[in-house]
This record gives sequence, C-alpha cells and structure tokens, in this order.
Amino acid sequence: MFSKETEGSRASMVAAIEADVADTARLLGKDALDPQVREAMLTVPREAFVPDDLRRFAYQNRPLPIGHGQTISQPFIVAIMTDLAHVQDGDRVLEVGTGCGYQSAILAALGARVFSIEALTELAGAAAERLEALGYDRVTVRQGNGAEGWPDEAPFDAILVTAAAPGRVPEALIRQLAPGGRMVVPVDRGGGADSFLFGPSQDLMLLIKDAQGRVEERSVLPVAFVPLV
Ligand code: SAH
Repeated sequence: MFSKETEGSRASMVAAIEADVADTARLLGKDALDPQVREAMLTVPREAFVPDDLRRFAYQNRPLPIGHGQTISQPFIVAIMTDLAHVQDGDRVLEVGTGCGYQSAILAALGARVFSIEALTELAGAAAERLEALGYDRVTVRQGNGAEGWPDEAPFDAILVTAAAPGRVPEALIRQLAPGGRMVVPVDRGGGADSFLFGPSQDLMLLIKDAQGRVEERSVLPVAFVPLV
C-alpha cells in the first residue's frame, strides 16, 4: 500500500491539485496549498477508500462512484475545503457526509479530532471499519442527519459539509460553530431553467464566525456535490 509506485501516483495527484489551485487562485484567495494540507494529501492512501475495481483510478484528480449513488470527492475539492477551513492540530472538526471516509482521514492526518455523520447506514458502517483498519483512531463516525449537526460534541473549530445544502446553510450547523471557527459548505442556489443546461448551480461557501459570534460569509467557487438528503 505504501509502495514507491503509489507514492509516485500520490505525488502526481498532488501536482494536479496544485495546478488546479493555481488556476483558481483568484477565487480561492491564495495561489498555493497550505504545506500541511499538501503533506496530508501525500500521506493518506486514497486507493484504500475507493472500490476495488476502481483502484487504478484512485490517484486521478477526479471524483469516483462508491456505490449507493454516492461518490468520493475530487482530490482538489478535498484539499481546498481542508485548506479553507484552516484545520489545525488538535481542532475539533465536524464533517457532514462521511461517504467512504477519505476527507475524514485527511482531517485526522492534520491532527484533528473528527466527528463525521453519514446519512446512509451502510456507508457509515463501512467507513468506520475502514478508518479503524487504517489506524485513524481520532475519527468517530455515526449514522444520522448531518444537517442537525452533532450537538453533544459541539462546538466545533471547523465544519466541513460534503453534500450540497438546498438554498441555505443549516441553522444548527452555524450554531455549533465555535467563535473563531470556520465552515466550508456547498449551497445549492437552485439553478432554475439554467440547471437544465448547466447542471446544478452550487457555490462553495466559506463562513467565518468571529470572537463575538458574528458570521461573515463569502462564496468561493462554483462546485458540483451530491445533494444533502
Ligand atoms: N466526504 C466524502 C464525500 C461524500 S459524498 C469524501 O471524503 O469523499 C457526500 C455524502 O454525504 C454521501 O455519502 C451521502 O450519503 C452523505 N449525505 C447526504 N446527505 C446527508 C445528510 N443529511 N447527513 C449526513 N450525510 C449525508
């Protein structure tokens, strides 16, 4: 799993991510990945998070199907969401939409204590087992509706939502963000007639809560996530 070959593939995946970051620098507000995020992307074995028959595509910079109509996010998206959230060693982080658990592993590799909620029972169980087998013992996965957050473990220094919220950011998640915390969340603006031609129009939003609890938000980038259910 940690052969020279996969190390090389991972390095080329990170090179592709960095090219995308350079291309979107104006939107991201930065032209290079945080070195620690880069290191995490180089470390986590993405091939262990994709279905066996798709392993040969594991280090391409694109999303892949994981069954149940769901996907493993594109590496570029995982990297920039992690980067925008400024995740630090020791942070408590909520993830909504565990899927296969790849994003959780990246957060754990940065030293975060991760709480991840997945709506689909089978995916939640499989991700929990996979993360445990790989030794990511700072991740707790549970089945549930992530739009309600995880009140018992709140507040969170960062919240990453990896499925698109319809219309607006769920209020419960904003409440569970700690002062000084950051949330990265795709919001579906409902493309109307345009969505017929161009697909869903979603904005990746960055919300920052200041020490007084005031929330500022900005739209970072157009994205395409599966919807929150
Ligand atoms: N974070 C994943 C991406 C998962 S795709 C990765 O690292 O690749 C989004 C996931 O969100 C899907 O598994 C889907 O089942 C889940 N999901 C959708 N709506 C949800 C909800 N309301 N609560 C929790 N999970 C949800």
